[in-house]
Amino acid sequence: MSQFDAIVIGGGVNGLIAGTLLGRRGKNVCIIEKSTRFGGMASYSVDGGPTLAHSLYNLSPRALSDIGIDPQHPVLSGKPVSTVSLSEDGRHIVFKNDGVYWSDGTKHPESSAWSDLTQRLITYGSLLRQLAEAPAPGGQKTVLSRGGLNEFLRLAKLGIGLKKLGKSEMRRFLQVVLSNVHDIILDDLPEGPVAGLLAADAIWGSATGPRSPGTVFNLIYRLGHGGIITQPAGGMSALTDLMVEAAQKAGCVLMPKTEASRILLDNDTVSGVETTDGRTITAPIVLSNLAPKITSQMTGPSVFDIETIRRVRNIRACGTAAKVNLRLKDNSPLPGLPEQLANERLIFAPSVEYVEAAFNPAKYRQMSKAPVIEAFKVQTADGASWLSTIVQYAPSDLEGGWTESAKEKLAQTTVETLSRSLPGLGDHISGKQVITQDQIESATGAPGGHWHHAEMALDQLLTLRPANGMARYSMGPKGLFQCGAATHPGGDVMGLAGRNAALAALEAQP
Ligand SMILES: Cc1cc2nc3c(=O)[nH]c(=O)nc-3n(C[C@H](O)[C@H](O)[C@H](O)COP(=O)(O)OP(=O)(O)OC[C@H]3O[C@@H](n4cnc5c(N)ncnc54)[C@H](O)[C@@H]3O)c2cc1C
Repeated sequence: MSQFDAIVIGGGVNGLIAGTLLGRRGKNVCIIEKSTRFGGMASYSVDGGPTLAHSLYNLSPRALSDIGIDPQHPVLSGKPVSTVSLSEDGRHIVFKNDGVYWSDGTKHPESSAWSDLTQRLITYGSLLRQLAEAPAPGGQKTVLSRGGLNEFLRLAKLGIGLKKLGKSEMRRFLQVVLSNVHDIILDDLPEGPVAGLLAADAIWGSATGPRSPGTVFNLIYRLGHGGIITQPAGGMSALTDLMVEAAQKAGCVLMPKTEASRILLDNDTVSGVETTDGRTITAPIVLSNLAPKITSQMTGPSVFDIETIRRVRNIRACGTAAKVNLRLKDNSPLPGLPEQLANERLIFAPSVEYVEAAFNPAKYRQMSKAPVIEAFKVQTADGASWLSTIVQYAPSDLEGGWTESAKEKLAQTTVETLSRSLPGLGDHISGKQVITQDQIESATGAPGGHWHHAEMALDQLLTLRPANGMARYSMGPKGLFQCGAATHPGGDVMGLAGRNAALAALEAQP
């Protein structure tokens, strides 16, 4: 039996950050992880192939600094990548920080409209970031309570930020933030690939289409850290290795290949964790990197009231993003794409309507026949070259299940769709990996293999995330906290859920 001040169940990005922050604040922490490697979804890979996550756009510098990682660390200071919207006529469109260009370098006619719109969304994003860097507001009953003054000051700062936008812009922000991205984009841009890219960026990992309410929030959320996209030097595993190193430096005891089976209780207070191999680890604080449903199964239902159990059961998490990794023959170039664009972020989303149509089959538990795709050319440690693709929409509840033939069909659809812009791509592929929701769920425990562990929808955001009454990270028995992507402000390789949860656990200390 081992004894700690705090146990973190799950060593995903959020679990690592939560544990490290507690360690740096003097707590004796152990982080238990069922897999052989830490990093969770972010660095999950099959047979050394590309990792599930492949780009950074939302990683919080604040979360990094709080765990002693310099946001300018060489692993993180990779060159920002441009986005290329793949076109079927070979006139690809390149999105850079300073505007939109045709692939021959000439300015795209929608460049300034796109810049104006994205700049506005980035400004809104910086306001949302202030909300993301703290527990969702509304939990402290009085300004004079512990933490109440801080919350008041944070909200005051947000109010000043809103006021600084000016009257009409502030009104516009409040109007658009909860609406659907279809209308907002097409108010400012003509239908087509420039608009299509913004629609795609509002729906990754989520069971929504551009017409779904709240998708503007998702887009703004993604742009909260300025909208710059990078890839960690050495890949996503290099970043999660850096986080492991930070946890070790903070004195955390890391236990890979250790699966929690039960959260132990002493009356209504947490007392530790039991593992599947029969070990008992004790601590008065347990933070769970897992979704609330799984956490509550580990405590048993008796410590929750019926309403909480009902709310936890009703949290929606139908994952929609699958991974299809295409191994390229002999590092071959991508057909139809100028060499200088091969290492950029490639998107297939020719219009807003295309994205909406891609979502429709998922509503009926079917995979899209014409999916939205994000692709990066990456190299794995063995020197192999891959096209690492995220394919949206491949629903977790696919009718008939994710059988081998369903996976084969998804791979075929991915290649066919990309071949519309990269003709003959199939001839350049020597192997493939298809990683669907069922596999993501069994590897990481994320319900429905969901990107954010719980849908990012209006009824599951901010003070309602993951569910009403659970927005302050504590859950059920005294000493139990949630620190995973299902909590505010959600997932992505961002780290704020873990950071905020650790701060909430510290604040709750007597
Ligand atoms: C296909 C796909 C592509 C993505 N691409 C990107 C991207 O490019 N950029 C980006 O920013 N985000 C991306 N994401 C989202 C991002 O990876 C996640 O939101 C984020 O990593 C979630 O981190 P987490 O720590 O909250 O949870 P997780 O990463 O799910 O961590 C949970 C951890 O708990 C462990 N665990 C589970 N059960 C137990 C148990 N009983 N005992 C002990 N340990 C346990 C798991 O093994 C896992 O390590 C992608 C997601 C998907 C599905």
